[in-house]
Amino acid sequence: MLAIALVGCAAKQQPKLENECLYGADKTEFQFWSDVAEEMEVHIYNDGMSAPASLNDANNGTDVTEVVETVVLKKGNDNFWRGTAKGDMKGKYYTVRSFQNGEWAPEATGIFAKAVSVNGQKAAIIDMKETNPEGWAEDKRPEMKDMTDIVVYETHVRDYTMSPNSGIEHKGKFLGMSEAAAINHLKELGITHLQILPMFDYGSIDETALDKNRYNWGYDPVNYNVPEGGYATDPADPACRIREAKQMIQALHKAGIRVVMDVVYNHTYDVMGCALGRVVPQYFYRMNEDGTYANGSGCGNETASEKEMMRRFMVESVCYWAREYHIDGFRFDLMGIHDQETMRQIRAALDEIDPTILTYGEGWAAMSPAYPYEELAMKQWTYKMPRVGAFSDDIRNALIGSPFDHERGFASGKAECKEAVIGGLVGCPEWSGEPMQHVSYITCHDNYCLRDRIAVSAKGETEETQLRMNKLAQTAVLVSQGMSFIYGGEELYRTKQGIDNSYQSPDSINIIPWENKEKYNDLYQYYREMIQIRHQHKGFRLGTAEMVKEHVEMKETGEEHVIIYTIEDLEGIDVAEELIVVLNGGDKSVNITIDEGKYIILAQDGKAKAEGLATFYGGVMPVAAYSATILAEIDN
Ligand code: CA
Repeated sequence: MLAIALVGCAAKQQPKLENECLYGADKTEFQFWSDVAEEMEVHIYNDGMSAPASLNDANNGTDVTEVVETVVLKKGNDNFWRGTAKGDMKGKYYTVRSFQNGEWAPEATGIFAKAVSVNGQKAAIIDMKETNPEGWAEDKRPEMKDMTDIVVYETHVRDYTMSPNSGIEHKGKFLGMSEAAAINHLKELGITHLQILPMFDYGSIDETALDKNRYNWGYDPVNYNVPEGGYATDPADPACRIREAKQMIQALHKAGIRVVMDVVYNHTYDVMGCALGRVVPQYFYRMNEDGTYANGSGCGNETASEKEMMRRFMVESVCYWAREYHIDGFRFDLMGIHDQETMRQIRAALDEIDPTILTYGEGWAAMSPAYPYEELAMKQWTYKMPRVGAFSDDIRNALIGSPFDHERGFASGKAECKEAVIGGLVGCPEWSGEPMQHVSYITCHDNYCLRDRIAVSAKGETEETQLRMNKLAQTAVLVSQGMSFIYGGEELYRTKQGIDNSYQSPDSINIIPWENKEKYNDLYQYYREMIQIRHQHKGFRLGTAEMVKEHVEMKETGEEHVIIYTIEDLEGIDVAEELIVVLNGGDKSVNITIDEGKYIILAQDGKAKAEGLATFYGGVMPVAAYSATILAEIDN
């Protein structure tokens, strides 16, 4: 009994990786974990501009002329190495390095640096309290009464702000996303969550040469716990990016929009170019038997979430963003590289902060990870990770075709996809435990945007027909019982000129075409109204697999291109008694017969209106080619 009690006690007092540098006005305390180092030391610098001397040569050691102080660290029983720099260190920079196997590893920021120099090569000692914008203490997550309300909109800081037509002043910056011109569109559209492509410090953009206007998605992590400098007005001021990221989040929160961060713990930009690779060489990665780095990410390496300290790092990191930056959700890139247990622990840790913090990810890897498949957070095992969602490539491929070919999908005329669409509409295929774990989507930053996808698969069809297919596909997403996810700019009929991997394409390819809000206003209004229809009708988002089973009834149609279903017995659940959804993915109009009653037509023939387009009293109704009809029965 005593032994058990002691173990429990020790577990509670585990030192935190996030406390690697604790600033105080009279001293700064450091602690870093390593179970293999024979010596460890911290170097203090006055200058943040230049990279540490050892950056490009692992064996060169440090240019001692730059180091203003060396803090020799002492190892504790817990494998944390600790030391203190006396005096007020604010404004200085640090690196850490470790000695093992007869040599000094190259110096690096610690793995949990919270502030960094330009390009993230040195960690900065700052007083985090000074990074809070005015009113930050009062910043609250927008209310989230019902998790099924969620409609996620994915965008990238540059995609959204760089266009000369955006009306946004701080183009390409966190501050741009916080301007009214940016936020009003999102409010008007009715989305609840903004998912931002990587906003942590990444490596592919030179922060000292931003005038070159390079573009990158940012899936190349360097410092996981620091915002990207390229999005700050002054990347050389370590506090600036932190303050401005908080300002963006604060402004979105004020507008009632929650913020989801795209996190990429599955690999690093470059093993020896970042702290995870340098401070404890090899530890944080999965290795092949021949001593090379495993590569489930397709980017040259994969991290090892099953190892204790990598797991703790991920858990602490998401909690840090949730607490320090008030982040409301996390989208895990290549989540299938992580193990399920880590995802469950992340969920549990976030629940202690706020159970409405959203978690979902890509339930796949780029290549085979070097870990047993049945332990990984792959889509197939989503049901084993309650309240962690996974993107449904099933509904995506069924509606518009797979990204691996140029075939059509159900919404563009391929009847064979009907059954798979039905699986996605109910949000409960075998893999998802509950419908909210089924992320319903057709497009995201990866692969073709919707306009381009339909253009390559339904080549030869008129623009009018392609727009009908577009609306039909997105309708299916927005009436699906799964969680709704829309790629930013689809509502404005964006095109990437046929480029299906725009990760480093110029702004001209990636920017959202604001001018289309007028030109394709009909499409924009359709998206907006469909989002409102989802918000107004709880029947489209019943929330549990049990409720879906009880209320959703698929009908025989006799038409291979047509799906008809009802959501029934909604008294006390929805303002409607019953909802009827008809999706016609064929190129001919079909007639359907509706029982006598009083119905509000919510969508018909490429038009949608939450207040209703017209009233219908039952009888025969035509459903036009490539279109959705949605009826709400009201019995008064
Ligand atoms: Ca960077």
